[in-house]
Amino acid sequence: MSLIDFLAAGWTQSPAWWVAGYFLLVTQLTIFSVTLFLHRSAAHRAVDFHPLVAHFFRFWTWLTTAMVTREWAAIHRKHHAKVETIEDPHSPLAHGIWNVVLHGVVLYQEARRDRELVAQYSAGMHDDWIERNLYTPRNTWGPSLMLFINFFLFGAIGVAIWAVQMLWIPIMAAGIVNGLGHWWGYRNFETDDCSTNLTPWGLVIGGEELHNNHHAFPSSAKFALRRYEVDIGWLAIRGLQAIGLAKVLRVAPTLALRPNIALPDTDTLKALVVARYDVSKRYFRQVIMPVLREEMARAGETRERLSRRLRNALANDGRWLDGDMRQRLNEWVAHRPSLATVCAFRDQLQAVIARTASNSEARLQALQDWCREAEASRIRVLENFSAQIRGMMLVPARA
Ligand SMILES: [Zn+2]
Ligand SMILES: [Zn+2]
Repeated sequence: MSLIDFLAAGWTQSPAWWVAGYFLLVTQLTIFSVTLFLHRSAAHRAVDFHPLVAHFFRFWTWLTTAMVTREWAAIHRKHHAKVETIEDPHSPLAHGIWNVVLHGVVLYQEARRDRELVAQYSAGMHDDWIERNLYTPRNTWGPSLMLFINFFLFGAIGVAIWAVQMLWIPIMAAGIVNGLGHWWGYRNFETDDCSTNLTPWGLVIGGEELHNNHHAFPSSAKFALRRYEVDIGWLAIRGLQAIGLAKVLRVAPTLALRPNIALPDTDTLKALVVARYDVSKRYFRQVIMPVLREEMARAGETRERLSRRLRNALANDGRWLDGDMRQRLNEWVAHRPSLATVCAFRDQLQAVIARTASNSEARLQALQDWCREAEASRIRVLENFSAQIRGMMLVPARA
């Protein structure tokens, strides 16, 4: 082999499709290291991996991303703890969508330099010899070694692959998940943040596409929570579990409806608390939207009278709107009596569910009162909703 040949196509002299296969393999392994190991296992403790698998992921993260487990997990935990506030390391609401999409890496670097943040949120991370002597202090050696490996295998094209590999996580995770995952897409759950599912099929970025589901149940190892949703990361976990290399610790429970429950009981209350974001979304779809349509039809109005943004804000109390928009929404609601009533019921139900300080007996009483009043409201959809939630119960997921 001449030097020119080596520089052009490396030691392997591989055809293009081989190189493409290599590229897909290494980038997907990096995505899986981030979603399965850093995110679901290290940051959220939803799944444990066999020490060999866990170490492979640590090694691969070091080799291909220069990210330090402890820092990544701490920054991510803070994202959940302070979501959509100025203290959230990467909230599009607080930092601007383009800033997070285009400069997500800068925000990440800023956060990792905050030693206090890292110390406060990094409990339970690996702290062994190799972490202290290689993975943490020599984090940039990994990508340097990767560059050498790529160049040796594929020559100049290997260097190009390396460049794209280095951009992969900044674009896919820092930009797309952190930015668009709080900005654009659909919401199954009315969570206390702006998180969204980018697509129902989480195939390209390891299942991280289902970010709204994840915010609803952060410690669930499984992100796909509807029949039509796919989480490729979960499929990988199931595969590893089948051969004894993974142990699932937590999976989101589902809601079931018991028939003939006359008054809400402690099971109902428990289900409503755990599945509160699901309940809020159901309330929006099954009560607020039908009442809104009815009110508009009665007044001869078309849907255009209320923008999509304002309509969606009826799911909560318009908490993500600015002052002017919120006032506009409140005035709009105040002129429509049935809508105003169901919005008031929405707030009362949310208060009953969220009232963590009072004892469970008082909360159960408040829930029973809410159901009685809802069923006497003469608003049919509200009566039906109350009848539905009375019988709600949790079905623990089988891991
Ligand atoms: Zn998020
Ligand atoms: Zn998370």
